[in-house]
Amino acid sequence: MTAQTRDPGPARPVPVIEIRNLHKSYGNLEVLKGVDMVAPKGHVVSLIGSSGSGKSTLLRCANLLEDSQDGEILFEGEAVRWRGEGLARHPADKAQVIRIRTNLSMVFQQFNLWSHMTILQNVMEAPVTVLGRPRAEVEEAARRYLAKVGIGDKCDAYPAQLSGGQQQRAAIARALCMEPRALLFDEPTSALDPELEQEVVRVIKALAEEGRTMLLVTHDMRMAADVSDHVIFLHQGRIEEEGPPDRLFGAPQTDRLRQFLSATA
Ligand code: ADP
Ligand code: MG
Repeated sequence: MTAQTRDPGPARPVPVIEIRNLHKSYGNLEVLKGVDMVAPKGHVVSLIGSSGSGKSTLLRCANLLEDSQDGEILFEGEAVRWRGEGLARHPADKAQVIRIRTNLSMVFQQFNLWSHMTILQNVMEAPVTVLGRPRAEVEEAARRYLAKVGIGDKCDAYPAQLSGGQQQRAAIARALCMEPRALLFDEPTSALDPELEQEVVRVIKALAEEGRTMLLVTHDMRMAADVSDHVIFLHQGRIEEEGPPDRLFGAPQTDRLRQFLSATA
């Protein structure tokens, strides 16, 4: 019993999300071609890249909204169990999928608020019906999160009565009210006019400063540079370049990233 004599060093915290060699195809179209990615606890990882490079697909795979054909996905160190292989591969365990998905809240470009519910009802819905938390406790949390994103006075309004920026902030409050382990954002500011974009950027920055774990797909390079600990540049389903934002934006190493950055500037 002397094999374990090496000092393992300080324990590395288990990442919230870890993806290894992920392959994803739609029929014959291979969209992700072996992607490795880690979202450590308390870190913000941004995904950038041209339209069609696979950013949304990667986010949806991380959230188990999509099947994938090969590779591993781990949530807090727990590997997703699969059955079948190739295009027939699916997560094997429905309860595991639900557990992982309810711990990863997603914010979409198009807000996706329920139009027939008030803002407060929108924020309360999933914690009450999906998680089964007590209504009074959820209402208190919902009001707190709506105040936090600056729309505490809009609880009784309907989505159509809010600006796009307010609707997106309501969607962020809704995601927070699930008390997720990580927040996943898919282009949260791209449907907004520039002046409304900033109010959402400010909320995302504040969440980053709080030490929330986030995976952020964005076309907004300024926001990515400001909030990220790590930036991943996807090109045609592969990670072309990645690193800390200073290096990625300040000293890009590949022609493709240089071209991408000059096209988006
Ligand atoms: P991005 O978010 O970087 O713009 P996506 O992940 O949305 O890219 O898409 C990557 C590629 O996958 C694109 O070629 C897109 O047309 C294709 N794609 C995305 N979703 C589907 C789908 N449900 N069925 C077939 N092809 C899809
Ligand atoms: Mg997309």
